[in-house]
Amino acid sequence: MPGDATLWTAAHCRHYAMCKIDYLGTGVCPAGVARPYVAYFPQGRMDIVDALARGRIPVTEGLLDVADSCDLCGVCELQCHFYSSLRPLPVMAALKSAAAEHRRSGAATARAPSDPLVEELRAIVGRDWAANDPAITVAYSHDPYPLGPHHVPRAVVLPGSAEEVEAVMRLVAREQVPFVVRGNGGSIYGKVFSEGLVLDTARMKELEFDPANWTVTVGPGVTAFELQREALRRGFRVNVGEPTATVVGNVVCTGLFSPWTAAYGMGADHVLDMEFVDHAGRRFRLADPDGAGPAHLAYRHRVAEVPGVCTRAQIRLQPVTGDEAGLIVPFDGLEPALRYARDLARRRIGLALAVLGPHFIATFLAPTWALAQAARRAFPEDLGFGFGVLVVADRFGLDAARALAGKPVIDQDLFRTLALGLPRVIEPKTLDLLRDLEGDRPAVEALADPEVRPVVQAALGATPATIAAAVEPDLRAAYERLYARPELTDLLWLNQFRILSARLARHKHFMPLILFVPLEGQLITALARRLGEIAEEAGLEHAYGFVTPIDMGKRAVLEYDWYVDQADPADKERTARAMDAVVPWLDGLCAQPGSNLTWLKTVFTQGTARKESWLYRDLSDRADAG
Ligand SMILES: Cc1cc2nc3c(=O)[nH]c(=O)nc-3n(C[C@H](O)[C@H](O)[C@H](O)COP(=O)(O)OP(=O)(O)OC[C@H]3O[C@@H](n4cnc5c(N)ncnc54)[C@H](O)[C@@H]3O)c2cc1C
Ligand code: SF4
Repeated sequence: MPGDATLWTAAHCRHYAMCKIDYLGTGVCPAGVARPYVAYFPQGRMDIVDALARGRIPVTEGLLDVADSCDLCGVCELQCHFYSSLRPLPVMAALKSAAAEHRRSGAATARAPSDPLVEELRAIVGRDWAANDPAITVAYSHDPYPLGPHHVPRAVVLPGSAEEVEAVMRLVAREQVPFVVRGNGGSIYGKVFSEGLVLDTARMKELEFDPANWTVTVGPGVTAFELQREALRRGFRVNVGEPTATVVGNVVCTGLFSPWTAAYGMGADHVLDMEFVDHAGRRFRLADPDGAGPAHLAYRHRVAEVPGVCTRAQIRLQPVTGDEAGLIVPFDGLEPALRYARDLARRRIGLALAVLGPHFIATFLAPTWALAQAARRAFPEDLGFGFGVLVVADRFGLDAARALAGKPVIDQDLFRTLALGLPRVIEPKTLDLLRDLEGDRPAVEALADPEVRPVVQAALGATPATIAAAVEPDLRAAYERLYARPELTDLLWLNQFRILSARLARHKHFMPLILFVPLEGQLITALARRLGEIAEEAGLEHAYGFVTPIDMGKRAVLEYDWYVDQADPADKERTARAMDAVVPWLDGLCAQPGSNLTWLKTVFTQGTARKESWLYRDLSDRADAG
């Protein structure tokens, strides 16, 4: 039986799929690549160990195969630690020990029950790509949403082509099997689970560039990280969100918003066309004027089903000018930061814009929770750096952003110093030095002042070894090698690949509350305050996340986050209390005529729509009312 610490780790896997992409350039779990069921990736192994320990699954043939396929190479150890501080390797070792112990004991190995549905699925996709072994299906049974379902599916299928998806959908319709389509399961609100069939798109990795038409055709298994990497290799950029999210799944479910939404848009803006297979197994295209597609360009203000299974999409490619970089403009309060971001958006300055709060800034920079906590306190209190407006722009845009800020900014050079020297930035002696230099301005502006900066930089001595010293001794050499790579501290690269965002949930899982709102400082501040109060009343941790301007600063997306220990029954109760309060409040606000507020709850699954149809609700509601 694994020890308590190992079981605790297994129960706290975040399920953000960061072990499924090569985001650190250290490789991906070879067992998962060879057999891309979730169960063969480290994330699935965490679930298997957890389920075995709780007696939810016996030792099965599938479990033994999963255990044997791991050679304890250790790739997952750094990938997981980098964003969550979890150390998964003992869990992987525990699974192998359980398999070895079972074999030594001579006990019988359980087999998957015979199921005609699985046989029919295998006839469509091939023997290897449909399964109902409990060790395989348990890895598709839940995510960290504390109120989510725990459905072990009857079977999992991994089709390899649109034709196979059509045949699977016809079978599902004929047999009336409950069904769900899943990308990487990173939507984290209990949405990709079913007692029937889970269709996992992991094998559908089509990727074909059409530079003349500024598009790329993407299969539903292609992740944001993979697409961005290939696009940049060819001199293009794409608007992507979370690196593990499948690009088409992200478009379908949230309309895919990110800081780049400020310039590149959201929802239907991303695509020239999308191909779907509907629930009856019929193929249709979004842009076919005579088919079922165009109906999905409109948003209906209700919770809806996905339009079907997206089997490919033509995604827009964006130009790269080669002189883009990032900077952060510091503010002490949210409202002035929002005014500045809105001003940039209205003037069309910048490609990526976001107003980040102290939790995001601190957790993105820090490789440990202790350091993140210290920075989250010190930035606003000691440096006057409560909020930061992130701007990624070409050199003309950067000049304009600086001019509009009218004060020292955290440019790429200083950002690297902060990222590498974070442990020293927040030491009392550095803060004392900054206080001596600040005069009547906030200390962060003294830090950013080009005249003062050499003194500060010399005092900080920021190197990869400085930041690596913050982590456990046995990981320091690996962190030092990582941080020696320039991209790990490059604001442009980091925002194109977004490898840091999952760090917001380093200490515990997060529940994002996402609203599309008019970009008005008082409104946003009031909404954020109430979302915080509801969490506070229920006893949950919470923090402001970010705001990104949309449609030239007329609208914005606001994310406020609650933090929950996914394995703690008390946090589950707290979450239920908080949801009981927030759901009627937000539903009511969004239903008010003229409020122009839309909650992600109703956009979810309608992300192929034109963003205007959910951003300008007053107009669409009036049209609906006739
Ligand atoms: C740390 C973190 C940060 C995040 N930040 C953002 C953010 O800034 N912006 C943002 O937009 N999202 C964000 N998200 C949410 C997440 O990235 C999206 O929900 C994304 O869609 C997840 O992709 P996935 O492939 O894992 O989708 P899944 O979770 O597998 O599926 C999501 C939904 O899409 C449907 N779906 C998936 N594939 C298909 C398909 N081929 N055809 C039809 N329907 C399909 C599923 O049925 C489900 O309803 C964040 C999530 C995390 C964990
Ligand atoms: S240790 Fe095992 S689970 Fe982790 S990456 Fe290597 S093979 Fe995969």
